[in-house]
Amino acid sequence: MDATKHRSLHETSVEQFQRAAQLIDLPAHHRAILSEPQNEVIVNFPVRLDTGTWRMFRGYRIQHSSTLGPYKGGLRFHPDVDLDEVKALAAWMTFKTALVGIPYGGAKGGVTINPKNYSEGELERIVRRFTAALGSNIGPNHDIPAPDVGTNAQMMDWIMDTYATIAGPTNRQVVRGVVTGKSIAVGGSAGREAATGQGVLYALRHWCGETGTRLDSLRVGVQGFGNVGSHFARLAAEAGCAVTHVADHTATLTNPKGLDIDAMRAYSSENGGIKGFPDATEIDTEDLFSAEVDVFVPAALENQLVKERCEALKCQIVLEAANGPTTPEGELVLARRGIDVVPDIMANAGGVVVSYFEWLQNKSHEIWSESQVDEKLRDVMWAAMDKLLAARKTYGCSRRDAAYVVALTRLSDTYDARGIWP
Ligand code: GLU
Repeated sequence: MDATKHRSLHETSVEQFQRAAQLIDLPAHHRAILSEPQNEVIVNFPVRLDTGTWRMFRGYRIQHSSTLGPYKGGLRFHPDVDLDEVKALAAWMTFKTALVGIPYGGAKGGVTINPKNYSEGELERIVRRFTAALGSNIGPNHDIPAPDVGTNAQMMDWIMDTYATIAGPTNRQVVRGVVTGKSIAVGGSAGREAATGQGVLYALRHWCGETGTRLDSLRVGVQGFGNVGSHFARLAAEAGCAVTHVADHTATLTNPKGLDIDAMRAYSSENGGIKGFPDATEIDTEDLFSAEVDVFVPAALENQLVKERCEALKCQIVLEAANGPTTPEGELVLARRGIDVVPDIMANAGGVVVSYFEWLQNKSHEIWSESQVDEKLRDVMWAAMDKLLAARKTYGCSRRDAAYVVALTRLSDTYDARGIWP
């Protein structure tokens, strides 16, 4: 294993943008501003458990930048959530929204828990109490959370309901956009649930166009079968790819002819994981990384592609559906081996783009169809991929550095235009 486990994720995120900052000669004060979040909100709050006892929980909301618009980003419920991780994830949101050109800043939040250990009722009380504890630190024109690892549409509905109730009767309707990724019934958008996976597929289609590769000739391996991985796998299979390998926290499965992803999604939601899914062979977890696939899609957590795994990969391209899945050491190996990487802030931007569409619909009281949403998403992803490629050509750099060049240029131009006061 490489040294990443001991390195701060926030430091990694700073190093990533500093490389591109160097390329474009970003002024030192812009670098300094972007190296730290604007606000770090930490709340500790009590919640009553089903046993009748009370437990304290710690929640975070890190607001990295509001230079381009309201803070925006998901809420993660996971036992590994800590300040360092959330700071990195918040910074990546700033660069993601800047890269794809939507009027948002970046933020991230979370609670340090394993949601699987709590009942539905306990989760509802945790979410509502966390929302109350955050108070005016979130708001539809200020900071807009969304789902991430371990959170879902139901939790977003509870946040919206809690916030709207506290806002009072005259404001109740105009604050719906305090959170995105809600269920359709309470103001969510068609296409939001599948949006990140859909965006990953658009990134792959764009890469196919650039490299003259046929999408339906590709064998795909996916690490992670949550919201992002499972929707991506389904859409890739529908587009003609053979999804030959899928891994989740319960098992790593393969079928050289391609796994039946629709059946696997149904199986996984019934059984809490893919282990035991028929018509597939279970292999060792580590064997996923040496699988004979053309496309490898990490769609789980950060720091998965450590250098040994990057040495083992047989794919042509890594599509980073997760945030921060490749370690800095791993990235050097991929570069040396000529494996293409579409970076996280580009590949997984579909989620926040459709969050933006949800927010626009909430503001204008419109309801867009799924095909409208998908078409607009495609346009945004395509334009950003085009910009990324142009920057790559200009600077002769990696796709990750090119993505940061586009994002930093937009941020820097805004700092210049607005000035820094006083
Ligand atoms: N959590 C997702 C991400 O990492 C979506 C954020 C959002 O929709 O605000 O991009």
